[in-house]
Amino acid sequence: MSNNYVPLDVRSVLEFAEPFLEGQPVEASEIGDGNLNLVFRVRSDRASVIVKQALPYLRIAGDAWPLTRHRARIEANAIEVHEKLAPGLLPRTVHFNTAMSALVFEDLSEHITWREALIAAQPVEGVAETVGRYCAAVILGTSDVLLPSRQRKVLRRDFVYSELCLVTEDLIFTAPYLNAPSNRYDPEIADEAEALRHDRALRSAAAEMRFSFKTRDEALIHGDLHSGSVMTRPGDTRVIDFEFAFFGPFGFDPGVLLANLALSRLAHDAAGNHAFSAIVDRYAQQYWAALAEEIKRLWNPSEPWHARFLSQFLRDASRFAGMEMIRRIVGLAHAKDIDSLAQPARAVAQHRAIGGGRALMLGNPVHTFEDLWQRAVGEDNFA
Ligand code: ADP
Ligand code: MG
Repeated sequence: MSNNYVPLDVRSVLEFAEPFLEGQPVEASEIGDGNLNLVFRVRSDRASVIVKQALPYLRIAGDAWPLTRHRARIEANAIEVHEKLAPGLLPRTVHFNTAMSALVFEDLSEHITWREALIAAQPVEGVAETVGRYCAAVILGTSDVLLPSRQRKVLRRDFVYSELCLVTEDLIFTAPYLNAPSNRYDPEIADEAEALRHDRALRSAAAEMRFSFKTRDEALIHGDLHSGSVMTRPGDTRVIDFEFAFFGPFGFDPGVLLANLALSRLAHDAAGNHAFSAIVDRYAQQYWAALAEEIKRLWNPSEPWHARFLSQFLRDASRFAGMEMIRRIVGLAHAKDIDSLAQPARAVAQHRAIGGGRALMLGNPVHTFEDLWQRAVGEDNFA
């Protein structure tokens, strides 16, 4: 990797962005709330662009957790593949600068993240279906289901099991089930958090899912598809933030997405906002229905394997969803949907999220989408 790297700031990013911006850059602000990168919006008097630069460490943990900047290259490569498969569903990438580990994007200035919309109880038409179609397109389109073997093998070689996969491994599959220093949880649920470490069945399920995550290189998945990786406005939805992309199991992205929707649902329940809970239920159904429908459309509709493939996919997604729900309560990176609630509502939502996560990980295989959702958000899960 080149040594010409310097972290950008609100001044130096003006010059960096100039070639990609219509008009003279006049102002830049840091807009990222992420943990790994600097994200800037740079404006001229008539246009704006987004600059995302990888930092050489994991921001949330200070500079104590060093990371290479290779993930900017991974993000650029994954974008190239995914935008061909899901045209119009990603922001346009204007430029990639290898030495600076920086990407320049079209500014989605009218969009907000889906997580922000969920927290604000703001319904957005079409968002869930679009993300469902995106998932179907990239999962089938980079797997041996649709991609001819030779092309698939070549593509596979372009994506390593990256350092960020190790971060995921640790934060989702390992730390919540150990007394890891990175874990964070409220004192109100400390007993439940600590009980996870003594639950042999749960630890065994987590180890099994970790093994799946590491070994099943089935499709070039997004790798971090939570509701903050989706930007939306009425009539337009895009998927962002591809640095965690790798060849992994089919069910991981849908599992993570559904888990984050379930956390939103539990937050609205706990806050007594039942009208919006019903909207989140509908999002989850619409997401899975659109994904299943798009898989059927992209595949040969008379393919005999199709039905079994989908039910296996759903079972897989349900287990990953369980792991994501638990780690967002007791691990390092929490869901703002729940953390922004005041007590006692926060502890109620957290308790239900741990219960939902356990039910998804430990229960019999789910058969229908309704089974999955009922377990994730059910009230009677915590045995
Ligand atoms: P990180 O991985 O560091 O979190 P993201 O790619 O998720 O970086 O971007 C961080 C934030 O920057 C997003 O949550 C969003 O608010 C904003 N953002 C990212 N890309 C764009 C874009 N193309 N247009 C407008 N805002 C963006
Ligand atoms: Mg990110």
